[in-house]
Amino acid sequence: MKKNTKLASAGRKPQYTQGTVNPVVQRASTVVFDSVADMHEAIKERGNRTLFYGRRGTNTHYALQDAITELENGAGCALYPSGAAAISQSLLSFLKSGDHLLMVDTAYEPTRDLCDKILSGLGITTTYYDPMIGAGIKDLIQENTKVLFLESPGSITMEVQDVPALVKEAKAHGLITMLDNTYGNGWHYRPLEHGVDISIQAATKYIVGHSDVMMGVAVANEEYWPVLRENSYLLGQCTSADDAYLALRGLRTMPVRLQQHEKSALAVAKWVEQHPLVDHVRHPALPSNPGHEHFKRDFDGSNGLFSFVMKTGNQKAINRFLDSLHHFKMGFSWGGFESLVTANRSMAALRTTTGWEHGPIIRLHIGLEDVEDLIADLEQALAVYESHL
Ligand SMILES: *Cc1c(COP(=O)(O)O)cnc(C)c1O
Repeated sequence: MKKNTKLASAGRKPQYTQGTVNPVVQRASTVVFDSVADMHEAIKERGNRTLFYGRRGTNTHYALQDAITELENGAGCALYPSGAAAISQSLLSFLKSGDHLLMVDTAYEPTRDLCDKILSGLGITTTYYDPMIGAGIKDLIQENTKVLFLESPGSITMEVQDVPALVKEAKAHGLITMLDNTYGNGWHYRPLEHGVDISIQAATKYIVGHSDVMMGVAVANEEYWPVLRENSYLLGQCTSADDAYLALRGLRTMPVRLQQHEKSALAVAKWVEQHPLVDHVRHPALPSNPGHEHFKRDFDGSNGLFSFVMKTGNQKAINRFLDSLHHFKMGFSWGGFESLVTANRSMAALRTTTGWEHGPIIRLHIGLEDVEDLIADLEQALAVYESHL
């Protein structure tokens, strides 16, 4: 079966759908048993696709979990109330006091804050490594290093990591590897096929796809799925059946949405690239992007997210630029049908190992609007930017 066919049928077991196309929305806390024998059977299975207790999930959750497990080619998928929870709980499921964590320097900002503000207090130390370090990671591995955490492309600055080279060293030293795959989302990139142990996503982004649900997922391989599943459960992680339903509904149309996001974002990125105020564009599919060769080797495609770096700038020019955009809404997150913009005057505070020697960086999420309208919007807002330099 090819990819689209597989995704259209993934997770549609009769047990979950009960005669309709989509799974039932099964809201539950308590599950009731007809007999002691039934209850004992349920206890034995402990929610492995059979009803046990609401926190272990219902048929709606199982349908989504099965579909995402197939998408990312793993052994199982845990659901979390946000992408941030998927990251924190995956780390907490495997790290203990005295352990050392290797975290990519280009991690999503709340991931960095988790390491500095929470894991540090639990006696877990973190070293931030250069996303482009490749096999050089071996020099940073300590006696007590337990987890190598990757995010590729990096948040905002979009560096694409050499995952096979990093994983090879991690495996040689017995580390667990986790990758924030929100960008690659299982459609364009499947980390488990490249030797990563746990692939984590903010399903909030392209899986949900409509900016109306918070959800996180973590898919593990055979080796780590039993511990991830059990520890996430013990840490109290669960999601509502309604949110699981919406995420699965979003997932069904993700490939066609991604096609349009990809096409439009490439058109806008190429227009931005030739603008006289712009120093360079950070888009994994463009040759100028750090790690573009890894992207070409490992990914099936790109999406609506990219950044560009200005030659010069100041806070006032950035603020007026943001205020003058009409179609690009100012706001966090991405992956919905709408275009979004955020801007950072400098990345220096968020790049403690690699630093930031460039000008301001503006990140766009290209939605499903017409490209001509988006480019015209950027053109007039960049003129406003220039008038404040
Ligand atoms: C948005 C995002 C997250 C966090 O997801 P939430 O659902 O907002 O908590 C994690 N990693 C990356 C790369 C993200 O873009």
